[in-house]
Amino acid sequence: MALRIIREMGDPVLNKPCKEVTEMTPRIRELIEDMIDTMYEANGVGLAAPQVGVLKRIVVIDCTGEDLYVLINPKIVETSGEQKGQEGCLSVPGKSGEVTRPNYVKAVALDINMKPIEVEGTELLARAICHELDHLEGHLYVEKVEGPLLDVKYDEEEEVE
Ligand code: ZN
Repeated sequence: MALRIIREMGDPVLNKPCKEVTEMTPRIRELIEDMIDTMYEANGVGLAAPQVGVLKRIVVIDCTGEDLYVLINPKIVETSGEQKGQEGCLSVPGKSGEVTRPNYVKAVALDINMKPIEVEGTELLARAICHELDHLEGHLYVEKVEGPLLDVKYDEEEEVE
């Protein structure tokens, strides 16, 4: 398991648009595996490559602990409805704020084998897809927060491996 350092707000890498992935290489495969490890270690539901300092269009998402999505060059092709809810980000530790997102999202992407896939989600998964794809454009959710950015108290639970 290889963990990467999560970049935090203020790091310019988080404000830059990412480049498309044109071919799978051992280095990109390793990046994706490290992103997955880093996301789970941080108890996140998603992580985008710029959050570990790499400007490539790759995100990993797992909202349930059982449904891991690796999305390469993802694009949202359909949205509907609306949801308001608290959102947080591993790059903005200790904070959350209310963000309005579509309640349903359909995205197309490539998987880790560069095969086309389609992902549909509602509620948290729809929110996570929107949030992670914003990272690929250099945007953080704090730009979309309605009202105050709140402090979050984390449970100081010991991690059991
Ligand atoms: Zn984020």
